[in-house]
Amino acid sequence: MSENVEKAPEEKEKTEKTEKKKKKEKGIFSLYKIENDKILRLRPTCERCGPGYFMADHGDRYTCGRCGFTRYKPVENQK
Ligand SMILES: [Zn+2]
Repeated sequence: MSENVEKAPEEKEKTEKTEKKKKKEKGIFSLYKIENDKILRLRPTCERCGPGYFMADHGDRYTCGRCGFTRYKPVENQK
């Protein structure tokens, strides 16, 4: 009597994982946000340079990278 030990070949399913590296895109895409088919601008535009020139967020103020215009954020909690 011989035991037939049949080893079923393990089916190795190769699942190809396509690793998508998420890159934080900096640029014009980070300045807009689409909500309900409406485009929201996340940054204020420069008063001097006009619309199209966004100002950088520096915490308590915005500065324009083009002309250097600085505008302080409006204080909402005024006592
Ligand atoms: Zn400017």
